[in-house]
Amino acid sequence: MAEKYVYFFGDGKAEGKGGMKNLLGGKGANLAEMTAIGLPVPPGFTITTEVCTEFYKNNRRYPALLQEQVEENMARVEKLMGKTFGDPKKPLLVSVRSGARASMPGMMDTVLNLGLNDETVQGVIELSGDPRFSYDSYRRFVQMYSNVVMGMDGDVLEHLLEQMKEDRGVKLDTQLSADDLKKLVGLFKNKVKEELGKEFPDDPNEQLWGAIGAVFGSWMNPRANTYRKLNNIPSEWGTAVNVQSMVFGNMGDDCATGVAFTRNPSTGEHLFFGEFLVNAQGEDVVAGTRTPQPINKAGGDGSLPSMEEVMPQCYDQLMQVQVTLEKHYRDMQDIEFTIEKGKLYMLQTRSGKRTARAAIKIAVDMVKEGLISEKEGVLRVGPEQLDQILHPTLDPKAPKEVIAKGLPASPGAASGEVVFSADEAEEAAKLGLKVILVRIETSPEDIHGMHAAQGILTARGGMTSHAAVVARGMGKCCVAGCGDIKVDYRTQQFTARGGSVISKGDIITLDGSTGEVMKGQVPTVQPELTGDFGTLMKWVDKYRRLGVRTNADTPHDSKVARQFGAEGIGLCRTEHMFFEGERIMAVREMILAEDIEGRKRALSKILPMQKGDFLGIFREMKGLPVTIRLLDPPLHEFLPHTEAEIEELAKVMNVSVATLKNKVEFLHEFNPMLGHRGCRLGITFPEIYDMQVQAIMEAACELVKDEGYEIIPEIMIPLVSEVKELAILRGHAIRVADEVISRYGIKVKYLIGTMIELPRAALTADAIAREAEFFSFGTNDLTQTTYGLSRDDAGKFLPFYVEREILPNDPFVAIDQEGVGQLVKMGCEKGRQTRPDIKLGICGEHGGEPSSVIFCHNIGLDYVSCSPFRVPIARLAAAHATLLEELGR
Ligand code: ADP
Ligand code: MG
Ligand code: MG
Repeated sequence: MAEKYVYFFGDGKAEGKGGMKNLLGGKGANLAEMTAIGLPVPPGFTITTEVCTEFYKNNRRYPALLQEQVEENMARVEKLMGKTFGDPKKPLLVSVRSGARASMPGMMDTVLNLGLNDETVQGVIELSGDPRFSYDSYRRFVQMYSNVVMGMDGDVLEHLLEQMKEDRGVKLDTQLSADDLKKLVGLFKNKVKEELGKEFPDDPNEQLWGAIGAVFGSWMNPRANTYRKLNNIPSEWGTAVNVQSMVFGNMGDDCATGVAFTRNPSTGEHLFFGEFLVNAQGEDVVAGTRTPQPINKAGGDGSLPSMEEVMPQCYDQLMQVQVTLEKHYRDMQDIEFTIEKGKLYMLQTRSGKRTARAAIKIAVDMVKEGLISEKEGVLRVGPEQLDQILHPTLDPKAPKEVIAKGLPASPGAASGEVVFSADEAEEAAKLGLKVILVRIETSPEDIHGMHAAQGILTARGGMTSHAAVVARGMGKCCVAGCGDIKVDYRTQQFTARGGSVISKGDIITLDGSTGEVMKGQVPTVQPELTGDFGTLMKWVDKYRRLGVRTNADTPHDSKVARQFGAEGIGLCRTEHMFFEGERIMAVREMILAEDIEGRKRALSKILPMQKGDFLGIFREMKGLPVTIRLLDPPLHEFLPHTEAEIEELAKVMNVSVATLKNKVEFLHEFNPMLGHRGCRLGITFPEIYDMQVQAIMEAACELVKDEGYEIIPEIMIPLVSEVKELAILRGHAIRVADEVISRYGIKVKYLIGTMIELPRAALTADAIAREAEFFSFGTNDLTQTTYGLSRDDAGKFLPFYVEREILPNDPFVAIDQEGVGQLVKMGCEKGRQTRPDIKLGICGEHGGEPSSVIFCHNIGLDYVSCSPFRVPIARLAAAHATLLEELGR
C-alpha cells in the first residue's frame, strides 16, 4: 500500500484519533478526536509529521505522493462544505496551521482566510452578503500571509492599518468600512511588492503550498529551536500541518472568538475560565490589541460584560462542550473556539498548562470527583514543578509599597532589578544579577530573557497572553496586562499610574498571585504544606518504595527537612561546624600544631562544640537515622589567609609569625581536590576522627540515657579508595565508640560505613563492603573523578558541551547514567554480594533531581538524600518511579 501522508477529519468522522499525536501532532490528533466524538469541528485534513521529517531529510523536497493526497482531501472538504477552493463563485477558504507533537505555544505560525484574491473575494461577498467582513478577512489574510510566508516585517503593514484608522478618525479596526478595508488590501499588496520586490501571490494553490512550506520551514526557525532546547524536544519529531475549512468570528456582533480553560490554570479552581472577543478572528484575544472580555461573570471583575451575559445561548453550548471534553480526556483542557453567526465551532483542545498549585489542586479534585485514580493523580504532577510552590511567597506582614496592579498571571513572588529587553535580562543573569523583565508585551523572541529573569511584568495582554502562558510553563512569577504602567523603552523607564517612575536598575517586587507590583524588595515567607499538597504527598508516600533523606548540617536545616517529609539525614557534613564563629581559631590551632599533644589540646576545645551540634541535630530528628560524615575537605581550606589572621593565630599559639607562615606554605596543595583530604586525613591524623567519633557517641549516649531517644548513629568515612584505609579507620572508630558506650554504661547501636565516591571504590565495592555496614554514593565527587573534570572549573567549557550536544546535559545536575550511573550500579551489586543487607543510598546533588531519582529507584538503592527544599520533589519522583515501573514505562 502507498504511504499515507494525509488524514481527513470532518462531519463526525476522522481517519486519525487522539492517540496518534506522534504522527498527527497534538493539534491534528485532537481535531480528529473531537470530530469523532461528535463535537462541532470545521472539516479539514492533517499532513503528517513524517512529511516534515522527510522534507528535511530530502533537501526540503516533499514526498512524491503528497500533492495528490492533498488534492484528494481538499476535494472531500469541498464536498462537505459545498464550496470549492479557488472558485470565484463559491470559494472555500482555509486555515493552514502548524501542530507539533508537544504543544509549542506561539512557536509556529498560522495563516487564516487562505484562498482569497480579488476574484474570490467577490464570491465571499455574494455568499455572506457582507462586504465589510469579506474585505476584513482579505486584509487579514494579506497581512498574515505576507508576514508568515513571505517574511514581510509585520509592523510595516500594521502601521498602514493604524494610519487608515487615524485618517478615518476611528479607534478600532471594527470601525473601518468595507471600502477602507478594500483600499487597505491594495495598499498592503503594493507595500509588499515595494519592500520584497515580488508580487503577492493571487493563485490559491500557490498560496496553499506557500503556507504549507512556511509551516514546515518554521520548524527549524531560531525561536522554535530555542523553545525545543529549553523543553527537551528533539528536532527529529517534526511538525504536522493542518488545513482546515475556515469559520468566521469576524462576521458581525453575533460572532466571536475565544480561548478558555476547563478549570482555572493558575489556582486550579473547578470553574470554567476564559476570555473572548466579539466580532474578531484568530488570535485577536491573545494579541493584546483589544482587551478581551471574560467568558463568565465569575471569572471577571465586572468591568466588562461576559459571554454568559451577552451571548447566553452560545455560552450554554460552550459549557456543554467543555464538560464533554473534560470527561472525555479526563484532564483539564485548554480550548480555542469561534462563534459564527451564533453557532459554536471548536478549533483546538489540548491538556492545559498549569501552575504547580493548580496541578496539585486539579489532581486532588479529580481523584475526589472519581475522574481519575490516586495513582493517576500522583502522575499528573511533575516533580520538578513542585519547586514553584516550595519556594517563599511574600511575607503578608511585611510593609509594601504597591505602585501598580496587573493580572495575577503566574504565582510566586520575585524581586530584582528592572530591565527592559530580553537580551539585557540574559546578560544580567549571566553576571549573577536577579532581574525583572518589563515589557509592553512579550513575544516568542523574548523567551531567552524570560528564562533568565526572576519574574516578568507586561503592560498589555490577558491571562492567556504569551507572557502569561509561557511564564506559567516555566514556573516563573508573572504579572501581565498591567495597564497601570506606561513603559518607555527609549528612556528605559516605566511610570506607574500614581506617578512613581522606575528606571532600569531599580529594584521592584512582583507578586504573581495577586498581580501587585511593589517598589523595592519585599521579604518573603515559607510555603504552606498542608491542604491539597498534604493530601497528594500522602498518596505519594503510599506508592513510593525509595526512602528520602536530606542533606543537613544544622538543627535548623534538619527541622525544615523534616517538615518537608525527610525520613532521616543522609549526609551531615561536619566541616561546616569547623568554620563557625570562634571555632575556626581552634581548628587552625589544631592543623598547625607541631605535634600530637598540640593537636589534642586544640581538639579538646572543639569537642564540646561538636557534641553540642550533634545533640541539636539528633533532637531535631527524633530517632530518625542520621548519617554523619567525618571531616572531608583538604586542611588548607581552613588555613588563615590574611596577614592579620596569621598574626592573631601566632599570638594564640605562642609561635612566631615566620614559623606560622612557613607551616601554612608547607600545607599548600597543587590539587587539593585530589590531595590530602577525606579519609587520608583520618589515616595521617587519627586524633581528628577520634574526637569526632567521641562527640557523636557522647551526644547519642547522653540523649539515650537522659531523654530516652532511640538513636542509631551512622558514622561515615569519606573518600575511601582502598579497603585497608577503611579497615584501619573502622578499627579506630569502634575503639572510641565502645569506650564511650561503656563509660555511659548503656547499650547503644551504631553503624560504620563509607562513601563510594571514587571509581576505585566502586570497582572494589565487594572488598570494601567487608568493612562497611552501609554505602552512600557521593555522586558529586564520583562525577568529578569519573569524568576527570573539576566542577569548580567546568563552567568554562561544560555549557559549550551541552550547547553543542556533546553531552546531553550537565552531569552535575542529572546523573550520567551511562558512566557514573554504571559505577553506582556496579557498586550496589558488588556491595550486596558481600553483604546482602548492606544499606545503600546516594547523597550527591542528584538525589533531588527527578530523572536521577528514577534511576536510583531502578537500580535498587534504598534511599536518596537531597537538600531540604528538594525533599518533596524527590518523594514525588520516587512515587513516579514506582508507578512508571508498574505501567511498564
Ligand atoms: P496556535 O498553535 O498558535 O494556537 P492555531 O493553529 O491554533 O495556532 O491558530 C490560531 C488561531 O487561529 C486559533 O485559535 C483560531 O482562533 C484561529 N483559527 C485557526 N483555524 C481556524 C479556522 N479554520 N477557522 C477559524 N479560525 C481559525
Ligand atoms: Mg500562534
Ligand atoms: Mg491554537
